[in-house]
Amino acid sequence: MTVRTACPYCGVGCGVLARADRTGRATIAGDPEHPANFGRLCSKGAALGETLSLADRLLTPQIDGLRASWNAATRLIADRFGEAIAEHGPDSVAFYVSGQLLTEDYYVANKLMKGFIGSANIDTNSRLCMASSVAGHKRAFGADTVPGVYADLEDADMVVLVGSNLAWCHPVLHQRLAAAKTSRGTHVVCVDPRRTATAELGDQLLQLAPGSDVALFNGLLNRIHASGAIDGGYVGAHVDGLDAAVDAAGAMTPAEAARQTGISEVALTRFYDRWIQTEKVVTIYSQGVNQASSGTDKVNAILNCHLATGRIGRPGMGPFSVTGQPNAMGGREVGGLATMLAAHLDLDVPAHRDAVQSFWASPRIASRPGLKAVDLFRAAGDGEIRALWILSTNPAVSMPEADRVAEAIRACPFVVVSDITGTTDTARLADVLLPATAWGEKSGTVTNSERRISRQRPFLPGPGEARPDWQALADVGKAMGWADAFTWDGPAAVFREHAALSGVAGQLGRDFDISGLATLGDADYDALKPVQWPVTHDREGGRFFAGGGFLTGNGRARMLAVAPRALAEKIGADWPLRLNTGRVRDHWHTMTRTVKSSRLSQHMAEPYLEIHPADAARAGVLPADLATVESPEGAAVLRVLVSDRVPEGSVFAPMHWTSETSSNGRIDALVRAHTDPISGQPELKAQPVRVRQFPALWHGFAVSRGALRPRTDYWAVGSVQSGIRAELAGQVEPDCWERYARALFGLDAAPCISVIDQNAGSARVALGQAGGPAGVLFVSRGPVEVARAHVIAEIECGAAPDALLAGRPSADRPEAGAIVCSCHGVGVNTILAAVARGSTTLDAVGCATDAGTGCGSCRPEITALLASAEPRVAAE
Ligand code: SF4
Repeated sequence: MTVRTACPYCGVGCGVLARADRTGRATIAGDPEHPANFGRLCSKGAALGETLSLADRLLTPQIDGLRASWNAATRLIADRFGEAIAEHGPDSVAFYVSGQLLTEDYYVANKLMKGFIGSANIDTNSRLCMASSVAGHKRAFGADTVPGVYADLEDADMVVLVGSNLAWCHPVLHQRLAAAKTSRGTHVVCVDPRRTATAELGDQLLQLAPGSDVALFNGLLNRIHASGAIDGGYVGAHVDGLDAAVDAAGAMTPAEAARQTGISEVALTRFYDRWIQTEKVVTIYSQGVNQASSGTDKVNAILNCHLATGRIGRPGMGPFSVTGQPNAMGGREVGGLATMLAAHLDLDVPAHRDAVQSFWASPRIASRPGLKAVDLFRAAGDGEIRALWILSTNPAVSMPEADRVAEAIRACPFVVVSDITGTTDTARLADVLLPATAWGEKSGTVTNSERRISRQRPFLPGPGEARPDWQALADVGKAMGWADAFTWDGPAAVFREHAALSGVAGQLGRDFDISGLATLGDADYDALKPVQWPVTHDREGGRFFAGGGFLTGNGRARMLAVAPRALAEKIGADWPLRLNTGRVRDHWHTMTRTVKSSRLSQHMAEPYLEIHPADAARAGVLPADLATVESPEGAAVLRVLVSDRVPEGSVFAPMHWTSETSSNGRIDALVRAHTDPISGQPELKAQPVRVRQFPALWHGFAVSRGALRPRTDYWAVGSVQSGIRAELAGQVEPDCWERYARALFGLDAAPCISVIDQNAGSARVALGQAGGPAGVLFVSRGPVEVARAHVIAEIECGAAPDALLAGRPSADRPEAGAIVCSCHGVGVNTILAAVARGSTTLDAVGCATDAGTGCGSCRPEITALLASAEPRVAAE
């Protein structure tokens, strides 16, 4: 049976059609009826069926590493949390949750912490993602409201992308924008220090200096004012603070904005004037704006420009924050951040607290904000948090100062981790592990970036004793003595309660009101189609604020007087480069699921450092070298990717690799936790670092059809269809490469053939038999030069060991090169050869090679390869 569900990755919130087979795998397709994607999926969504293996699943609760019953684990959690509260007060316990949770899970967690425990110490990994947007929205609109809808991208005449690599991080929205550009010629501007894959869509690329976004948008506001483009009617009727905001921006002439942003005055003026002359303009922003010590001011600098021109809430215009995670928005709705109450109600408004407490019939209610993520883990490290429950996230990898966070979790007297696997860096630190149901097994709702609520429906049974998180939380609530408040017969009942509470919020004049869904029966909930909030008796979905109606006390929006602020840390002689961290196209967060897909592991197979050629030369690193990247906080070892896509003075590294998948790839261990003073969001894109060559004596590449146990100074692993691949390096050469290979593959007695040249420092060792368990290892003094895709394909089809040793295809079979198109396994060499033969358009390359004809996520990279043969749009 085909089940309609929603993708569990990014905030686009695509609809998915899933059909399970008898082996526990599933066929996946885009849902043509879902209004977020209309049938499209990106590479991650398309590969969902390959991530469902139970190989590493946590199947039973564990206490101190030993199997336990749910009853025993629940009792222990209730007792330890109860003891901490009794001895040290409610603020001595905390939950750290996740934008991966379903709204129903989030609702129960928030109710338990804020209404019954009586603390607001529940924060979420969304703090790392969009907290600055939440804070900016609340300052300007009086509520965390995203005013627009996805169709605005298609109706706009101009789209500005600020700090948003849409092509990799929200690929289906990028595809919708690309289609709109083709059909109506939308003018696209990319504002980013890097020339990302998204820039290939841009008509103008503004490579601004890191952190200079407020200068850029204050310059725009100043130009709007100077050119008489303020919408006096809209501002007069609906907006406060214009004069102060314009005054604050008054010094930002194009010349001054050019000085601060590093963009030429000509380019800035061209951008400003086009923005001013184009009424239908959408400004999209995400992590490049939010993840900053001045993130909230950056958001408000953007909102100021839209408010001053009245370009908000009408078709094709408005500011648009796109969220990173599938249910970051749902978390905001239930109050999953330590700074919110529930249903967009506020902790610091007595009437809101009274209303929620009365609705919940709770013995108490949190009355002040709790600890935001960075402060929460610092408090744990300081011994102030005595019991901590982490659900569906991996802060020992993803938080800044990740090593300190791991230490804090280790130091906390009692830690519970709920996850689908017990092998994450965080799960390994838990006293109690709870097995959670995964995507495909869970039932509930998520809300995407345009406020659209979709059902996640199960199509597989939960394995072992895995349970939904809402149920685990509710059982602890009951065990703590609040059975009446935490008894539901399923997620539909939780959703009805959440919707009913939103009706209370609606009566108090709040925007988030889905009371029209509060009486859904179980069958209606099961059948619920994607629906955009608000949902009340007289309204469903649509845009906000075209006619004012802001959620501030007086109904008027607030423009904020914001001024540029320096980044938290300066670069200097010791730490001369700025580290920008972010996502890659085919992996998700700490790779718990995406690493299981060989397709997704091909695109970026190891943690890397993107560095400008001039900086690489200064640091003494060459392409494909390994480099040590250091900050005062820690160090990582990464593969060098020399590229002018990063500006001189900056480097980029992805945030996905963990201790499970690499020896030294946890990049957030290097990043200091400087936070925005309002949102508490950490600055994850500006850490001063230095780079030097990692002095490897040997480099290796290995593929195994079975196990692979890398024990060396550097390693990074990924999956292939029927085994594991690894990049390796060492500072000490083993005595015997055959012995090393046997230990690496765990094949002590297998037949072995090898070609070893001690003088040249090269070795090729193949173990096993054709069709059986096998492993192959290539070693050289410098980075290993073999045709990796070919070796992987050969070992997967059970080639004989001697055939594996060649390391590349025969002369009559071209080598594919690094994989660009994951769907069809098409490499860069294949694409470039097609271009050389005359395929000079995306479609022609597709016809010649199949590249780009699957999910379409690689089309920006193919465009870049095509452009590399032509003069490209210059950065300005
Ligand atoms: Fe999933 Fe990709 Fe859609 Fe995001 S764009 S929701 S990752 S399919």
